[in-house]
Amino acid sequence: MSKRKLIAGNWKMNGSLAANEALVKELLAGIGQPACDVVVCPPGVYVAQLQGLLAGSPIELGVQNVSTHENGPFTGDVSADMLKDFGVRYAIVGHSERRLHQAESDVHVAIKAKRALAAGITPIVCVGETRREREEGMTEFIVKRQLAAVIHLNGHCTSEIVVAYEPVWAIGTGKTATPEQAQAVHAVLRAQIKAATEHADRVRILYGGSMNAGNAAELLAQPDIDGGLIGGAALKAPEFLKIIGAAA
Ligand code: PEP
Repeated sequence: MSKRKLIAGNWKMNGSLAANEALVKELLAGIGQPACDVVVCPPGVYVAQLQGLLAGSPIELGVQNVSTHENGPFTGDVSADMLKDFGVRYAIVGHSERRLHQAESDVHVAIKAKRALAAGITPIVCVGETRREREEGMTEFIVKRQLAAVIHLNGHCTSEIVVAYEPVWAIGTGKTATPEQAQAVHAVLRAQIKAATEHADRVRILYGGSMNAGNAAELLAQPDIDGGLIGGAALKAPEFLKIIGAAA
């Protein structure tokens, strides 16, 4: 089944009130009626600003993280319900930078996905292997283990998630996976999702890792690549708009 593609921008810890406004204005001036779904994920502190800037536009609002908890004494956390209050539609969970720097485990990621789903927010669940894991032939084992935790906790709701395959060695390095490498892993993930839910066709599997205006079309042409999660290139409006154009 051919799905509407999804292009998501992960701004990471970049931006300011002024820079965000300038970037969104440039995006909205060039986006027209996109042929794919588009979401931007600013740092959490800017969700209110972005909610205002994106109101009535074809760009949806996402975030880069969500708490594993519902509410209560969890200093520094922001819950899925709070994010929902600000019109947040998507939440990246399990980005490799959080797995690495915040020691997020597969179980944390699965719980975050569950909290997002319970609040009506679509989790974008990131999975991916390190360079060493790839060299040791562990890619399939790693991504399946990461996704299995989410499937195990979320059961039939797995049909409501988005998955992002992000090889860690490709993130922010300029070393993109080849379309064949990416497709091979996406096919593995697709089969795993099919075994978990009868509505697997709904699940979009994004590729992320140095996707840019030059390589997006070829990656997005692969049968199991349903969109992209874009880091660096999402901070440059002309580049991000070209990727959106490639996802028609
Ligand atoms: C990311 O951080 O999710 C990402 C894919 O980054 P980049 O596009 O910069 O590799």
